Amino acid sequence: MKFSQAFIPTLKETPAEAEVISHKLMLRAGMIRKLAAGVYTWLPLGLRVLKKVERIVRQEMDAAGALELLMPGVQPADLWQESGRWDHYGRELLRFIDRHEHAYCLAPTHEEVITDLIRREVRSYRDMPLNLYQIQTKFRDEIRPRFGVMRSREFIMKDAYSFDPDEDSSAASYKLMHDAYSAIFTRLGLDFAVVEADSGAIGGSFSHEFMVLADTGEDAIASCSCGWAANFEKAEVVLPEGEEPEPLREVERVDTPDAHTIEQVAALLQVETATLAKTLVYLADGKPVAAMVRGDRTLNEIKLKNLIGAAELELAPAAVIKEVTGGPVGFTGPMGLDIPVYADQELYRSGTLVVGANAPDAHLIGVHMTRDVAGAKRADLRIIEPGDPCPRCGGEPVFARGIEVGHIFRLGTKYSQALGADYLDAEGQSHPVIMGCYGIGITRIVAAAIEQGHDDWGVIFPLAIAPYSVSILPLAGDGEVFDTALKLYDDLTEAGLDVLLDDRDLRPGVKFKDADLIGVPLRVVVGAKGLKQGAVELKRRAGGEVEMVPVGQAAEYVARLANEGGAQPL
Ligand code: ATP
Ligand code: MG
Repeated sequence: MKFSQAFIPTLKETPAEAEVISHKLMLRAGMIRKLAAGVYTWLPLGLRVLKKVERIVRQEMDAAGALELLMPGVQPADLWQESGRWDHYGRELLRFIDRHEHAYCLAPTHEEVITDLIRREVRSYRDMPLNLYQIQTKFRDEIRPRFGVMRSREFIMKDAYSFDPDEDSSAASYKLMHDAYSAIFTRLGLDFAVVEADSGAIGGSFSHEFMVLADTGEDAIASCSCGWAANFEKAEVVLPEGEEPEPLREVERVDTPDAHTIEQVAALLQVETATLAKTLVYLADGKPVAAMVRGDRTLNEIKLKNLIGAAELELAPAAVIKEVTGGPVGFTGPMGLDIPVYADQELYRSGTLVVGANAPDAHLIGVHMTRDVAGAKRADLRIIEPGDPCPRCGGEPVFARGIEVGHIFRLGTKYSQALGADYLDAEGQSHPVIMGCYGIGITRIVAAAIEQGHDDWGVIFPLAIAPYSVSILPLAGDGEVFDTALKLYDDLTEAGLDVLLDDRDLRPGVKFKDADLIGVPLRVVVGAKGLKQGAVELKRRAGGEVEMVPVGQAAEYVARLANEGGAQPL
């Protein structure tokens, strides 16, 4: 491609709307433009990257024996009512009504549609194992779309669904996908980790996430040298051996005027925050519940949500707190409440806790969980923290941040039972098919790759997904310099590479800046000075010295570097 004929609207200034580096650089490099909140157009340069990501995903899915199909983006409500998710998916599901007053949604995922297909088409154990996938647009009305295409409302996902007659076969299908995903992210040139994960709204019993490691990642992950790794949402907290001590004293009410926060109460009573218990009131599918953790800990809302089995969980507003506890915000405690109370297991290691008194400016001291909060349900409810042991080996986990780019689940028979997708075994007995589902965020991968590969000047793409593998910059618009550049462009294009020739009538400085910004991995500069010695300059975007390469060998040498680095032309 000649730059003069391309459509790559680069920006000098960083757009104010962008918070993270990938979003800034994708806008500046002319890869995407925003249409509405969380809805983007992919410009030609960005689309080239997207297509390369898609191709690697497709190749590895095909190699794993999965078969590609394409399902609709608009789905009838009836099907979602059958699975029960019309009521349970929550507000991320964008719903609308057609001219015949029939309700529909924009597809956030495709379990319902694929299970409907399978219940019609798969009859016998001989039709399985079967794995079907698509690369398709999803819509989720995210509460906070942000970071550009990293958390958008409309995005492209690769979603695959496996169907098996028994658990062993289903486990083998899961393993195939696990390995295919590892191959995909390795080929994409990304630094990633595989972690145990929560199964969220999709449900099911077993799941792993593939995380691109980056400081800006929305997910926190813990991992251990023993091989255990988990998302914070999921990471189990294991307490050291021990038992609940006997109560140390009677419960007593103390005045705590204006002490609304854990820190204020601890300071006033001159105790450690660890001796306080926070009691939080939530609405779980609209019904109030209370959840307790130690004052110095953080409640894990996912654990609470799973324990309750709620579809939606949100902190209760002040009016609800007042109504169910009788007291104001900041003074809630578990005693005397008429709603379910869920208590973190660690609270049972204290003989004397401080809790809110459900009255203004008052707390209770000397509280003992078993004696005084007998109705509470005890569970692991908090977020793992430095100092907590690895739940598998007891060792010391390390903490990092990651961007979730892939997620694999074993679904069991959740959807096949709900929708009646059954098959006949060799004896003619009917059973529900066993399912798995496997997602990859195709558009998110592009942003994640940039979070991992960039510097002050712009994007540093791995060769496997770079929009162009080589850029050629002639330092003159005509004569021997330009002719040499053109010849090199023709030779490299002939060799099958994606080459960008910057033939624009602009100062060299501007061209250098643009080449760096858009992240082309190999840059060849053709100038009069070099040509006097019969050479062109080669520089790698990822760093390193400039190499002088003899003109006659340049095409072959550059093509070899590109191919060895994993370049694949579109
Ligand atoms: P998250 O926890 O980030 O919301 P999720 O668990 O909802 O993700 P899945 O339903 O497992 O995501 O979807 C499969 C993949 O689709 C995710 O691993 C992610 O890469 C991608 N994805 C999910 N939501 C978005 C989004 N809003 N924007 C871009 N990609 C997304
Ligand atoms: Mg989500």
